[in-house]
Amino acid sequence: MKNVLFVASECTPFVKTGGLADVIGSLPQSLKQYERMEVRVILPLYDEISEEWRNQMEYLASFNVPLGWRNQEVSIYTLEHNHILYYFIANDYYFTRKGVYGYYDDGERFVFFSRAVVEALAHIDFKPDIFHAHDWQAGMAVALVKIMQPVEHMKTVFTIHNIKYQGVMPLGTYDDFLQLPAEHIGGMEWNGMFNCLKSALFHADKITTVSPSYAEEIKDPYYSEGLHSILLERSADLVGVLNGIDTNEYNPLKDPSIPVKYRSSRARKKSNKIALQEKIGLPIDSEKPLYIIITRLVEQKGLHLVKHILDDFLQEDVQLAILGTGDEEFESFFAEAAHRYPEKLATILTFDEGLARQLYAGADFFVMPSKFEPCGLAQLIALQYKTVPIVRETGGLKDTIHPFNEITGEGNGFSFTNYNAHDLLSVLRYSLTIFNDPFQWSQLLKNVNKSQFSWKDSASDYANLYEEITSIYV
Ligand code: ADP
Repeated sequence: MKNVLFVASECTPFVKTGGLADVIGSLPQSLKQYERMEVRVILPLYDEISEEWRNQMEYLASFNVPLGWRNQEVSIYTLEHNHILYYFIANDYYFTRKGVYGYYDDGERFVFFSRAVVEALAHIDFKPDIFHAHDWQAGMAVALVKIMQPVEHMKTVFTIHNIKYQGVMPLGTYDDFLQLPAEHIGGMEWNGMFNCLKSALFHADKITTVSPSYAEEIKDPYYSEGLHSILLERSADLVGVLNGIDTNEYNPLKDPSIPVKYRSSRARKKSNKIALQEKIGLPIDSEKPLYIIITRLVEQKGLHLVKHILDDFLQEDVQLAILGTGDEEFESFFAEAAHRYPEKLATILTFDEGLARQLYAGADFFVMPSKFEPCGLAQLIALQYKTVPIVRETGGLKDTIHPFNEITGEGNGFSFTNYNAHDLLSVLRYSLTIFNDPFQWSQLLKNVNKSQFSWKDSASDYANLYEEITSIYV
């Protein structure tokens, strides 16, 4: 029996801004269910976490956390949910703010969180064999446990969910925050800056990322965001484990947010389409092919390609709905375009989990032409709702979506290779021809119905990795 502590900055159902929250919210349960491990999760207690959850938490302990000259009091609360114990780190100064990220001092906030987690190990009744931290916000915790050794024989795993976000600060931060001997600065410095992600890559016993393709891609300068040389150095300890999703949670047969439940019935899916068209103000027509995009509106998601070909694509007899929040450039472009094409395009600039599920349920196609994509969960959710993904062949998209082949009848979606707007346009047009060919369309849907990416296989990959590091090095 192994004890594993997950350290992360977001987790469903408490607080979510993206796929990281889905992973932290579902992988521990799978590890417990399939591999019989004791997994606990430690998170910041943001204001964003609702009263309903807070009322169920129990107070555990309070202590001081030093961050250079700053000395802040922290309290830990616990909550058990679906048989997993969660620890929440509360601090009035750093975490009682609106939203989750986006503050000028995010670097300081999450180095503080990392330092607090290290201190917390002395106050929780749990001795981890594996300390498994996720993304840059928890990256400094990996370095600190390696240097400070708060728990004997504890091994560290660090998972890169997205290498673009690294937590980079001026180098002076090292002394200002950590006050450690100068010998450790080399492990935390990158290109003259203090870098939380690099600190984790340097110190972790094992590094994982969220798909096999992305594990290869990030060793290449095009995808590495400057970190390829350290990843090449550590490539013997770098492995890609494909993310899964909670197939019970994303299940159109049970989803309370969708109007008509279904397993794979197209007729029932069309009823969801009609309800959706009505809700988002598109003309009601259950036969009209409906494409959707649900995403953070950032460059990574290939939105420049969509921008470039939007007018051409909307000349076709289609509807498109975009749900997302993010960069002003995309928000204003898609909002304005929706005014120009009221019959064809709906743009909804909010973060709305329920509406996202209604879109997955009502649509025919899910479009995700990412420039890079570590794994991507949205295309996996689309498959669960029997909505056909259209993706660019990169990272986890390449590992999960295989292009439909009319001759062999294989494939669970559509894809294109080059980051090129007209390649996207031609694959979108091709998807329409398949949609309008009843024989090919039904073959494609059969394949989609069979595609499922649960945690079952990946949980055992993590379990094997934990086994390996706890048995090899002593
Ligand atoms: P990333 O983690 O890069 O944002 P993923 O595809 O891994 O991308 O995960 C995105 C998750 O966030 C999916 O569950 C998706 O449905 C959800 N999501 C993204 N934007 C929104 C939104 N505006 N409203 C509701 N859910 C959203």
